[in-house]
Amino acid sequence: MHILSVMNHKGGVGKTTTTLNIAAALHENGQRVLLLDLDSQCSASFAMGLSRQNISSGPSTADLLFKQRSIADVRYHNTWPGIDLVPASIDLAHAGLRLNPNSDDIGRLSTVLSDSKVTDTTDTTDTYDTVLIDCPPDISVVTVNALLASTDLLIPTVPSFLSLQGLKSIGEVVAQTRSKHDNTLALSGIALTRMNRHRTEMEDAMREIRTHYHHNVFKTAIPETDTIEQAQKRHQSLLDYAPHSTAAQRYRNLTAEITQRWADYDTLLNGVQTSSESDTVSSPLS
Ligand code: ADP
Ligand code: MG
Repeated sequence: MHILSVMNHKGGVGKTTTTLNIAAALHENGQRVLLLDLDSQCSASFAMGLSRQNISSGPSTADLLFKQRSIADVRYHNTWPGIDLVPASIDLAHAGLRLNPNSDDIGRLSTVLSDSKVTDTTDTTDTYDTVLIDCPPDISVVTVNALLASTDLLIPTVPSFLSLQGLKSIGEVVAQTRSKHDNTLALSGIALTRMNRHRTEMEDAMREIRTHYHHNVFKTAIPETDTIEQAQKRHQSLLDYAPHSTAAQRYRNLTAEITQRWADYDTLLNGVQTSSESDTVSSPLS
């Protein structure tokens, strides 16, 4: 089971949009998907059609972090076809007061997700194929919980001069988290989002990011388009709302690149593990 955190401490870079549409694309490919909304702004939960009432009174990812309830207790089944959701809650905004980052609290989500009961129905032992985590726009006890629970990390970024600095900061956090917690989180990659090819400064920034991060940047860039907001208003994925749009196709392509990397990585890991050198396999963000 892959657990992919979609993370960038900057807001508005397309984390939520990317999480939702990768979920939809994985479902199109026949995967069973669980989406965890960890952002107290609840954007993914609203975009998937939950009401304010559901969110204020129903179960949420805050119950996973604060009460260590199981996924089976808190998820909504088929919020979108084939995609289960654990919504966020405003309570997540107070996580800094409720969880101690210098204690075992930092591994709470990891414990919940490694529970063998993370199954997509109550009467089977099959796990989800992929768990997607939509992270908040910060680096907090919540984000580090997500990092420690994840097998993979996806960083959406809007190409700009400043985004290169932001990527370096994320790299530092990931490196610290990996070494402090003896964690083997792999980097799935950087996804360029909200790309407007008519803006030369964006083209320049994109080239700079690709030069600096090489193959860690996915080939597929997501274009800036109004269709994305229109789909969200209708509580649909882009793939359902405008299945033939360029942006929907780009999200399918991005998802294909991610799953191909996973397949390559799994093959590599299996090969290395049989030669008992698994420590040498990692794909850090540097
Ligand atoms: P984040 O989760 O990083 O804060 P969102 O995915 O919520 O970012 O996107 C922020 C806003 O930008 C939303 O209103 C969303 O509809 C819009 N948006 C995201 N991606 C695109 C895109 N490729 N083109 C146009 N608008 C986009
Ligand atoms: Mg968001």
